[in-house]
Amino acid sequence: MDRSELALLLIAIAGGAIALLPVLRHVWRERRRKQWFLRPFPAEWHDLLRTKWRLYDRLPPDLRHSLQGCTQVLLDEKRFEPCGGLPAITTEMRLLIAAQAALLLAGRPTAHHRFYPALVSILVYPGSFKDRGRRTFSLHEEAGATRLGESWASGSVILSWHSVKRGASGDHDGLNVVFHEFAHQIDQTAGDPNGVPAFADPKDADRWSEVLGQHFEDLQDDIEQGRAPLLDEYGASDPAEFFAVSTESFFERPRDLARDAPDLYAEMAAFYGLDPVTWRKC
Ligand SMILES: [Zn+2]
Repeated sequence: MDRSELALLLIAIAGGAIALLPVLRHVWRERRRKQWFLRPFPAEWHDLLRTKWRLYDRLPPDLRHSLQGCTQVLLDEKRFEPCGGLPAITTEMRLLIAAQAALLLAGRPTAHHRFYPALVSILVYPGSFKDRGRRTFSLHEEAGATRLGESWASGSVILSWHSVKRGASGDHDGLNVVFHEFAHQIDQTAGDPNGVPAFADPKDADRWSEVLGQHFEDLQDDIEQGRAPLLDEYGASDPAEFFAVSTESFFERPRDLARDAPDLYAEMAAFYGLDPVTWRKC
């Protein structure tokens, strides 16, 4: 082999290695995920969730197991950053946020997009915060409501710790900032957020759009006519907010949703692979 042939051979080997990199990265990531998923869940974390998250104790054992696995993967993959004067991210903060975000994943079949692929950082503020420029989110402005957060397709979710705690301790009010913002992340994974997440089968997407579209209009009508709406009024802002608000009610008030909007409940149950009306009542 002369020098030019050797050079060509080396170039071919290097090219092959570069082409293989994404495959190797994927294999390595899936292997790491599996390890974290299967790792025993620390007993003190289990106790902490039982104390701080009302819903956790009601989950069926299989689902709780899957949720624990997804929680550990999220804790491994996502960065948590204290903001707005919050001195540090505590174990309680990381756990309470990751475990609630994991509930949206725990019943869904294994898929590449499962672990909020666009999400890099979760920014945690103590309470109210200013977003990038214009609006100020303040607990006082929202008078009783406690959904203070943002989700960005560029890779971050912003949460008020005060709201995270309120949502987790729960009072069946249908408000949960973690469910809300992570539903937006799922929506954003499919492109511009429009209330229609990614579906493998286009027929499922069509049915979803039809059912949610109808309830979105009904919510707007209820508000206009002064009737007490089934879902939080914020869901009438646009279809993306409707999906996020429906997700909150699906987990926080499943019996109300199943009774008053069975078709909407059925869409949510099929999408999340979960049936919260069968969970133990608290
Ligand atoms: Zn929203």
